[in-house]
Amino acid sequence: MRILVTGGAGFIGSHLCRRLLKEDNEVICLDNFFTGNVRNLEDLLSDTRFTVVEQDVTEPIDMQGIDQIYNLACPASPVHYQYDPVKTIRTNVMGAINVLDLAKRNEAVVLQASTSEVYGDPAVHPQTEAYWGNVNPIGVRSCYDEGKRAAETLFFDYHRQYGVKIKVQRIFNTYGPNMQTDDGRVVSNFIVSALTGKDITIYGKGLQTRSFCYVGDQVEGMIRMMNSDPSFTGPVNIGNPYSEVTMLELAERIIALTGSASSIVFGELPKDDPKKRRPDISLAEKVLGWSPATSLEDGLKETIAYFAKIVKD
Ligand code: NAD
Ligand code: UDP
Repeated sequence: MRILVTGGAGFIGSHLCRRLLKEDNEVICLDNFFTGNVRNLEDLLSDTRFTVVEQDVTEPIDMQGIDQIYNLACPASPVHYQYDPVKTIRTNVMGAINVLDLAKRNEAVVLQASTSEVYGDPAVHPQTEAYWGNVNPIGVRSCYDEGKRAAETLFFDYHRQYGVKIKVQRIFNTYGPNMQTDDGRVVSNFIVSALTGKDITIYGKGLQTRSFCYVGDQVEGMIRMMNSDPSFTGPVNIGNPYSEVTMLELAERIIALTGSASSIVFGELPKDDPKKRRPDISLAEKVLGWSPATSLEDGLKETIAYFAKIVKD
């Protein structure tokens, strides 16, 4: 198949491109390299079935013969999506319109990398797909949260109005190799600090929870979702409900696994930071036969090994 991956040079996108090439597809990676890095794709560049197109997803996409589109283009770390919030919402809304128009012209299936952030600071725990969420529409996180919600709306309207074949996947906190050292998300921040002997900064008291999914499991879910029965549009939660931890527990585990002498310090809690998050994955289990296979311990070990190499270089 000929497959387009927008945001393919980023953390999850680079793993997805690698996996799709391994399965003998032709892969086009479209990226503006805002948070992506060509280093994530270095080993793929000599593959003749792989093409990298430097383009912004907010510009119309002119391509032919595309069978599948994975739309991942969007900065995912709060630090990066709040850097230029107007650009973030443009990326989500214009990006969705552009990939949906492309899917419509090519009669391709298009998958949206949505997010658990559509649930905001959830009043229901764990979160099922039926929950409509608790999102501040005017806060500092809304450029991302509302952008992703608007993108879901566009996906379902293109589906109802034009019959475009859609898949919507709600990704819960995912981590692993190929995150940037300056990504700003919690797993990479804690690991890099632990490995370099710097203080590990917990925002707030560290009692907020997240459920961490290893990138290999996330990509497996994505591929199963894309290739699921055409009548199944989602939204579907993909995340690891068995690894819900507080940020304090996460810091302690990373210190233990790295044998670090770093101290834990406390900083200010960012505005609208969700207090807890855990996916209900019954739908993914039932329809996709998917559940996470990697424990937090094993995933953290892989990620620490990756960053240990980067930090050394
Ligand atoms: P990432 O920041 O590493 O990757 C995003 C990629 O998109 C980067 O390569 C970046 O350069 C590219 N990009 C950003 N804006 C663009 C634009 N306007 N045009 C073209 N390319 C653009 O993030 P990630 O963790 O790999 O996330 C990938 C997708 O998954 C994102 O859509 C994100 O919202 C979603 N997601 C990720 C997580 C997670 O925990 N990692 C959770 C929920 C949702
Ligand atoms: N966090 C933290 N220290 C950091 C980075 C993040 O304590 O160096 C906290 C953050 O406030 C949030 C949690 O870790 O409560 C997860 O943050 P991240 O940005 O990784 O993801 P998100 O909040 O988008 O789920």
